[in-house]
Amino acid sequence: MEDNQAQKFDVIVVGAGPAGVAAAVTAARGGARVLLVERSEIAGTKNMIGGAVFLSALKQIFPDSWEQAPIERYINKHTWSLLTDNSSVDISCDFPQNPKSASIFRSKFDSWLVECAKEEGVYFAPSTLVKKLIKKNGFFCGIETELERIEASVIILADGVNSLLARQYGLRYDYETKDTVLSIKETIKLSKELIEERFNIDKGSKNGAARNFLGGLKLENAPFALGFLYTYTDSISLGLGVNLEDLNRYKLNPSDLLEKLKEHPVVKPLIQDGEMLEYSAHLIPEGGYKKLPKLCENGVMLVGDAAGFVNAIHFEGTNFAFMSGKMAGETALLSLKIKDYSKKTLKIYEKKLKQSFILKDLKSYQNVMENLYSRTDSLMSYYPKKAAEFFEIFSGANCVPKRDEFRKLMVNFVKDRSIRELLKDIWAFVSSVFGVLK
Ligand SMILES: Cc1cc2nc3c(=O)[nH]c(=O)nc-3n(C[C@H](O)[C@H](O)[C@H](O)COP(=O)(O)OP(=O)(O)OC[C@H]3O[C@@H](n4cnc5c(N)ncnc54)[C@H](O)[C@@H]3O)c2cc1C
Repeated sequence: MEDNQAQKFDVIVVGAGPAGVAAAVTAARGGARVLLVERSEIAGTKNMIGGAVFLSALKQIFPDSWEQAPIERYINKHTWSLLTDNSSVDISCDFPQNPKSASIFRSKFDSWLVECAKEEGVYFAPSTLVKKLIKKNGFFCGIETELERIEASVIILADGVNSLLARQYGLRYDYETKDTVLSIKETIKLSKELIEERFNIDKGSKNGAARNFLGGLKLENAPFALGFLYTYTDSISLGLGVNLEDLNRYKLNPSDLLEKLKEHPVVKPLIQDGEMLEYSAHLIPEGGYKKLPKLCENGVMLVGDAAGFVNAIHFEGTNFAFMSGKMAGETALLSLKIKDYSKKTLKIYEKKLKQSFILKDLKSYQNVMENLYSRTDSLMSYYPKKAAEFFEIFSGANCVPKRDEFRKLMVNFVKDRSIRELLKDIWAFVSSVFGVLK
């Protein structure tokens, strides 16, 4: 540990990702004595993102200093692409004045978060793996590392998707393969100039672009795989996420899928002449609302990925992590004030989550991923193909009456797909939209 204070803290936070840092600074700002424990020597080196952090949450945690964060590019261009084997139908949006997210490298960004936390009085213990929790009289009240036992009134588990600690104490079930996505990505070096040219970014600006890809994997039984690409200052990330159950069912190797994406005629020119700098893989929890853990027990709360707070559809994770950390930090302060660390008091954390976008969104999106997985073939193959056929007619001048071409398209649309399958697609779509809006 970096400090030789007596081994008793008000709050111990396990894990120095966005959730842990947000919890730690919130509690420290309220006057609590906080220890933030991280297994890595340098925070962020074991972590992964696609990816971009959402600025609204970052600003709420660090309203005065967020602009000093090591941001690579402000993501103001988003493009969603439906890929066939050799084409792409895109929807793009551009927010030149109002970027909502920023690309970052975890090792730099998480280290910056930790430095901010230290400045606000948080004690930081790097290279410290928490192996066990201390439990006395039914209350969690400390941690055990390889070297020492440290006690605290409140423990906040921010130890990420695997959260071995939560599982060890029955706070969380083991994620099933169908609730977990494996994401792999390559970081590819490209010059600033090439990035600006290929992604239509203003010269010399800090603007950036993100792309998402669905389909185009040239497989008969393609799994539901969502591809992503983010621009950094002088590199880009390219990766995809695939459900573990699908990987197992179709006996697929995720790196083969990424190779297929890299070879796609629309993606290949974007990464051409790039040099691979890093290859990484990480799990993403997708159990969502149906698989929520025990969010609190006597003396302990779960935040961020450890609690499964991710909305995969919108690539949201860091915002859930920051804001759940903040709520847990606030609840810890309240419990310290009244000296009651029981589940009854810590339930305030759960109440805050319920009143916030976190549990509201997780609840309204609870069936969406399941619906999408159930229509994998439609999404990965059928609709990208039909969309490409439509735009080939729409944007092409084939010296054939458009009426004939569109009629043929409509006839084939129904002929290529049984009514039963079409109805299933419509049902999945309508029930997803209805679920979100309800
Ligand atoms: C490929 C990929 C792309 C993503 N893209 C995006 C995106 O674009 N936007 C977005 O908002 N989110 C994205 N996410 C999700 C986002 O990264 C996570 O939701 C977020 O990092 C969760 O933060 P956290 O603090 O809960 O956990 P983490 O960031 O995982 O931090 C957990 C920390 O706990 C430490 N730890 C674990 N066990 C112990 C232990 N026993 N003792 C001590 N320390 C321990 C770890 O070393 C780690 O530092 C992506 C995730 C992946 C994998």
